[in-house]
Amino acid sequence: RIISAQTTDRQEDVVERALRPKRLAEYVGQAKIREQLEIFIAAARQRGDALDHVLLFGPPGLGKTTLAHIVAAEMGVNLRSTSGPVLERAGDLAALLTNLEPHDVLFIDEIHRLSPVVEEILYPALEDFQIDIMIGEGPAARSVKLDLPPFTLVGATTRAGMLTNPLRDRFGIVSRLEFYTPEELAYIVTRSARLLEVTIDDSGAFEIARRSRGTPRIANRLLRRVRDYAQVKAGGDITAAVADAALRMLDVDHLGLDLMDRKLLGAMLEKFAGGPVGLDNLAAAIGESSDTIEDVLEPYLIQQGYLQRTPRGRIATAAIWEHFGLARPGRGDG
Ligand code: ADP
Repeated sequence: RIISAQTTDRQEDVVERALRPKRLAEYVGQAKIREQLEIFIAAARQRGDALDHVLLFGPPGLGKTTLAHIVAAEMGVNLRSTSGPVLERAGDLAALLTNLEPHDVLFIDEIHRLSPVVEEILYPALEDFQIDIMIGEGPAARSVKLDLPPFTLVGATTRAGMLTNPLRDRFGIVSRLEFYTPEELAYIVTRSARLLEVTIDDSGAFEIARRSRGTPRIANRLLRRVRDYAQVKAGGDITAAVADAALRMLDVDHLGLDLMDRKLLGAMLEKFAGGPVGLDNLAAAIGESSDTIEDVLEPYLIQQGYLQRTPRGRIATAAIWEHFGLARPGRGDG
């Protein structure tokens, strides 16, 4: 999926890392989080403390990993990075924790996917900077308490609701990342174009920005594909017209919806008369997991007012009937 918000290949990872802002001042948008972090980081530094634990939640590609790196850079400490599904055994986490330097940042992506045994180890680590580990086996086994250096956990998740309560309660700073405005994304696209040495004018940057589902990762990815198109078909420079032609070729429509979005919305209209339809029925109809629909596809569609989530199921709004050029059943000709 060309504009999927998830990263898949390694080459892409390399480019992403190169485009990542390194300091808070370079981080575009998310004004509220930026202001809060600026104050909390300054205060922690003045006191000589580690920053309180931070939970970041929001759809993929909005800048959670980037922010974790920035927190470490602003605190002047190292970042160790891992993810929920990778930490299989309690020992995996214990090894990471005992190797931290004072005030280091430990970043755990997809923190809602930690196994319960690993989560158990994390509680005392977060609260008292201590862990209990088992030494030896069988009857000789005993539990030993180890002190850890004070550290900051930055946890990232697509949905805060998927965290257990005791885990969520241990974060002092909880922030939700919002979709970016087209203006913010245009700024990001222009900055990325400069780093990639691509010539783009303001209207070209805006065209890519407003069709990027409010997501910097998608904006950067579309920029690279539009660059290819411009290079081969248009002498290299990206204008609004070039961006539009390239995005059409990539099946990104003028609202910025891609094939998957249109498949989902199309199924809602054609198979379920616009809903209400339950998440599982929708998932079965388009052959996607309900997690993908909830985490990746629908947040943006809901934010844009194309889809509503109600207790009876998902409903397509009038704007989507119109976008698909279809008449809404049971509403006369209106
Ligand atoms: P997440 O961890 O939420 O999935 P990332 O932090 O990996 O998202 O961000 C994806 C890409 O988007 C990064 O490589 C970075 O280049 C870009 N990006 C994200 N947030 C911003 C921002 N606020 N300003 C500029 N670029 C950003």
